[in-house]
Amino acid sequence: MKGVDLERLFAADEKEIRDAYTTDVYFERTNKILNSKGLESTDVWAEFTLGSLPNKWPWAVLCGTEEVLRLMEGINVDIFGVPEGTIFRSRSPKGIRVPLMNVRGRYTEFGEMETAMLGMLCHPSGVATAAARVRCAAKDRTVMAFGNRRMHPAISGVLDRSAYIGGCDDVASKIGADIIGKEAVGTVPHSLMLMMGSDEAAFRAFDEIIEKSVPRIMLIDTFSDEREASIKACETIKDLKGVRLDTPSSRRGSFKEIIQEVRWELDSKGYRDVRIIASGGLDENSIKDLMVTAVSGFGVGTSISNAPTLDISMDLVCKNGSSISKKGKFGGRKYTYRCERCLSMDVSLSPDDDLKCACGSRMTMCEVPLMRAGKRTATKKPKEIREYVIAQLKQLGEL
Ligand SMILES: [Zn+2]
Repeated sequence: MKGVDLERLFAADEKEIRDAYTTDVYFERTNKILNSKGLESTDVWAEFTLGSLPNKWPWAVLCGTEEVLRLMEGINVDIFGVPEGTIFRSRSPKGIRVPLMNVRGRYTEFGEMETAMLGMLCHPSGVATAAARVRCAAKDRTVMAFGNRRMHPAISGVLDRSAYIGGCDDVASKIGADIIGKEAVGTVPHSLMLMMGSDEAAFRAFDEIIEKSVPRIMLIDTFSDEREASIKACETIKDLKGVRLDTPSSRRGSFKEIIQEVRWELDSKGYRDVRIIASGGLDENSIKDLMVTAVSGFGVGTSISNAPTLDISMDLVCKNGSSISKKGKFGGRKYTYRCERCLSMDVSLSPDDDLKCACGSRMTMCEVPLMRAGKRTATKKPKEIREYVIAQLKQLGEL
């Protein structure tokens, strides 16, 4: 048993996760029993499914597969599953849970990783789904993920990657930006205005000190009226790209009308190219409400990072080649099928079944090999996974 250093930060490091130090203790006990009883080489199939989606979501975005593969690399398992970024429904039209991933190997070699594997899929898939819903609400306008501060910093990179894959254009943290292969984006915090003493002093200081490659987007709601401050920002900074409104809820009245008024003022003074960015407590519904305005982009925080986690579970469905399952779950190694026309999903015990979708099209088996004997067979960059998500949203008519 490992002792905990009481002075340390509470987040687990990578080695501790790989060593199953974060796992539920009952898996360790199970292994101890199986090893003692000579069952250490029992071969199983474990299936990853969920019964329903939170918030009455009709679909969700699978996210986190890449990290699961990195975790499992070197453990003697085979993994198959639908590709990361797949938009899925939890059940087939007949009510059968759709397998998202299948792991085969000796249970004692990978069972202890259940907690970590699920955590790497459940929360990121919730975040990616919330981001995809925001993407659909914001249509072709920019969405920046600003929600890391509402969650533990140890998972900033996970959150930003998931938000990006779900459809956000940019992320704010440096670690998240490195993971997705882009530059981190940001505007100006209220603390800069407060520290510099006035909007104008902060505008000037930012323009003077920060490298020219960083777009000048100024925050205009710290001290004065948004209309006045936006014009002041235009007059102070020659290459002003935009203004950000983060108006506190106590002063909002109608955020929509404040934005419309600022736009009118900017246009009437000749600053038509200055964009308006809105932030502050936004979610898919408030974004839909703001779409009538000429707002160019949204900074979205808590509603994405605090997305509900998905209730994916891992269940044994096959033992030494025979079908097995706990009650409430369907036994047998199953294959996931999808209609490429309407993206409806179905399940079969055969990898080459001839399934027809309700829409009339033939379904195709859509799982892919992800790992063979502990060696990964598939890898995709976050940008490619995000493009796959966007293409499916368009196919569903959501975007
Ligand atoms: Zn179909």
